[in-house]
Amino acid sequence: MLYESTRGGKKGVSSAEAIKTGIAPDGGLFVPESIPRMSPEDMESLINMSYQQRAVRILQMFLGDYTREELEDCVNNAYTAEKFGSNAIAPVYKLNDTIYMLELWHGPTCAFKDMALQLLPRLLVRAVHKTGETAETVILVATSGDTGKAALEGFKNVRGTRVIVFYPENGVSEIQKLQMVTQEGENVASVAVRGNFDDAQNGVKSIFGDGQFAEVLRNSGFRLSSANSINWGRLVPQIIYYFSAYADMVKCGEIKPGENINIVVPTGNFGNILAAYYAKVMGLPVRKLICASNENNVLTDFIRTGVYDRRRDFKRTISPSMDILISSNLERLLYEATDRNGEQVVRWMEELRLKGTYKVDEDTFRKISHDFWSDFTNDSETLKTIEYIYNEYRYVIDTHTAVGIDVYDKYVISTVDFTKTLIASTASPFKFNRSVAKAVFGEEAINDKSEFELLEMLASVTGPVPPGLKDLDKRKVLHERVCESYEMKNAVEDILGLA
Ligand SMILES: *Cc1c(COP(=O)(O)O)cnc(C)c1O
Repeated sequence: MLYESTRGGKKGVSSAEAIKTGIAPDGGLFVPESIPRMSPEDMESLINMSYQQRAVRILQMFLGDYTREELEDCVNNAYTAEKFGSNAIAPVYKLNDTIYMLELWHGPTCAFKDMALQLLPRLLVRAVHKTGETAETVILVATSGDTGKAALEGFKNVRGTRVIVFYPENGVSEIQKLQMVTQEGENVASVAVRGNFDDAQNGVKSIFGDGQFAEVLRNSGFRLSSANSINWGRLVPQIIYYFSAYADMVKCGEIKPGENINIVVPTGNFGNILAAYYAKVMGLPVRKLICASNENNVLTDFIRTGVYDRRRDFKRTISPSMDILISSNLERLLYEATDRNGEQVVRWMEELRLKGTYKVDEDTFRKISHDFWSDFTNDSETLKTIEYIYNEYRYVIDTHTAVGIDVYDKYVISTVDFTKTLIASTASPFKFNRSVAKAVFGEEAINDKSEFELLEMLASVTGPVPPGLKDLDKRKVLHERVCESYEMKNAVEDILGLA
């Protein structure tokens, strides 16, 4: 299986090369030259496999230049019961007769980013060897919270790699900050940047664009790389859990083989729902893909009208991992929906860059509307949904997942479609403890509580505090570095011992 760019400028790239470089030289994203198909028999064969076996089976279809043994080794080290709480890895929880929750947050950092970032480092290290590269890989990440910690945990002690995460000093939650400053591992560092997320992101981009610095690094045996969500190596692990969840539902007798389901995904950068779309194209029986947005509802408007328009105010919401106005992975959907017309994709991406908006043609719009449905939810509806689901089912969900459930309710009201539905649950409620506790216990009960008291309060109504968040206040602070955004390059030099 070879890869090509969504902007038409590069074809015939191996999967290892696509994963190593992350983004195509013409600025596009790598996609497989054709999307492989799963026959009904293939899908039935997944039913009696473990999560790890299902993972190898699906990865083999996409990553042709990795041997089966290599994939097994990557998967068996990434998805362990020790890191994911049990061997189920991504279990399905039945909420009622139509709603099934796909719990993607049992990994070490309590958000769905672990599903990809536990596997990517292992794929990347092998990709580097396969392409004859000898330099040590330095992963730079700018994060608004979830991705940074997941990358630190995923790359921790992975030989041949270093990871440096930059986060806005005052732009992440207390829990998220503690998760990053107490990170252990020989090869990891986290740095607070005086500024906001954009400052950190621009700092990282300017380091990537600095040819002279790349030369300095190369002479010292280092090569920069990125672990952000446009890398194919982050997308492909996300396809696995949709097939796995379907196989589990068949296995438990909840659906018959071949029966259609709907899939709901709380969406930001369009990575997770795009993986569900690929699963549908591969043959997973899916009726609608339901794209749930928060008040940054660019995607809702796009799916409903065919007009993408980022010219609006950025809103800070209680589902911050979905606060995004440019969903980079949408480019991959446009490529498929235009029957792989790279030139057309280039035109729309140029319009987005120059004018902040573009409109797709009728045919593309029709294809997207056929597969997708979308709506959005505001903060007060999000809190009400958490409260309702707790009162009705004694099940505690996080703010992002609540957006998914509320949008699903809107879908049912508008379509009267009662097809069984899988809802991606993207974070542990403990990770967004203040909003969740407010919804469950009321404003007054939580007002003067510390982050850690809130965790204990939540533990009293749901399972125990996850190991990744427990005793964070008692762990040793290992990363105290703070810098200005213009000092980020110096920080990298210093951490790598070049200064
Ligand atoms: C990243 C994230 C999302 C959004 O996922 P995309 O793939 O960017 O659409 C949703 N919920 C949580 C908790 C996340 O961390």
